[in-house]
Amino acid sequence: MILWYHLPCASSPVREQLIFVISTRMENLDLVRHVIIVLSGKGGVGKSTVASQLALALSYAGKKVGILDVDLCGPSIPHMLGMQDATVHQCDDGWVPIYVDQSQNLSLMSIGFLLSHKDDPVVWRGPKKNGMIKQFVNDVVWDELDYLVVDTPPGTSDEHLAILENLKGKIDGAILVTTPQAVAIADVRRELTFCRKTKLPVIGIIENMSGYVCPHCSECSLIFSQGGGEMLAKDENVPFLGRVPLDPQLTRCLEKGESFVKSFPKSATLDAIQSIVEKIVSES
Ligand code: ADP
Repeated sequence: MILWYHLPCASSPVREQLIFVISTRMENLDLVRHVIIVLSGKGGVGKSTVASQLALALSYAGKKVGILDVDLCGPSIPHMLGMQDATVHQCDDGWVPIYVDQSQNLSLMSIGFLLSHKDDPVVWRGPKKNGMIKQFVNDVVWDELDYLVVDTPPGTSDEHLAILENLKGKIDGAILVTTPQAVAIADVRRELTFCRKTKLPVIGIIENMSGYVCPHCSECSLIFSQGGGEMLAKDENVPFLGRVPLDPQLTRCLEKGESFVKSFPKSATLDAIQSIVEKIVSES
């Protein structure tokens, strides 16, 4: 960041201004109030969906929000927000995130923007991935933000350690996303162990795909089981933040890159997301 100081010069007959440019490379996260990491035990449980919808709902509630998509395995957030063709730019201090909405309440930076071929898999070995994550996490120039939501790769790997290391002292905690079935729950236990070992506070667990909302009658049927996430939260003594149903209208919005918050403001799914957001805000 560059600070410009205009100082009056008393000795000069013509009032001149001396301009001192004090170049202070402030930490790029200094203006970020809360950092939330979104984790899941495995892919496909809706981690990126939850990360993007929480960020949208937070921004819709008037908060300044950033999303940092560090999911090297599948950076899907740009597509979910309709920004897959966006081009990011660099300034002297690093990468400049792009605004997702006109109100400029939601900004996004994805590792997907930096890959030369967006459809190619990332086939780097650990150290190269970690180096990329380190540079990426440190080199994004965030403006003033209330919340930075970080979407991570699934599981617990070196990449997660690299993320935690490079955001040290900045992270409020982690949100763990699971589906209701027992198999998924077992993976979340591993995530919880990871959080404990790395001293990462757990903000809470979200049970995604918890029931299916019929697009015709809006009735919610329990096609998978329900309640696994809540039971796990009780067992492990961590907060349960709520359930998000499997909603075909949400899937469609994600496919088309449309805002679900704006398209379905009166849906039960949005109510569920907003009540989770209220808990996050009240706890932060
Ligand atoms: P992950 O990040 O865990 O790999 P994603 O968020 O990419 O998972 O979700 C996988 C797929 O499931 C996506 O196509 C997304 O559209 C869909 N999906 C996830 N959660 C929901 C939900 N609650 N309702 C409808 N579709 C969902």
